[in-house]
Amino acid sequence: MASNKFVCSRCEFGTKYDYFGDKPKFAGNIMLMEEAYVMKDPFTEDNRCIILGSHCFSCKKSVCVSQDCSLFYSKRFCLLCVEKHLGEFPSEIQMVKT
Ligand SMILES: [Zn+2]
Ligand SMILES: [Zn+2]
Repeated sequence: MASNKFVCSRCEFGTKYDYFGDKPKFAGNIMLMEEAYVMKDPFTEDNRCIILGSHCFSCKKSVCVSQDCSLFYSKRFCLLCVEKHLGEFPSEIQMVKT
């Protein structure tokens, strides 16, 4: 079986993922806000899933969901792109990154 690995391009956090997309079947009928790398939660029996990360909408690099690496604002952006396009984000986001 091929092992799929997600690696964040910023913090280099890496782990195996079970699914990429917005409808992880093992999690029931949920629909994610974005296409993301998802793994089954190994600590619970009920179909939970953990979102590991996704691709930056702008530069397409893979980034984890950590606040230090990416930001979700209708789409996922890595913090590098957030800095580059800061003027296009609402002021509350601009205040977070100064
Ligand atoms: Zn990261
Ligand atoms: Zn980016």
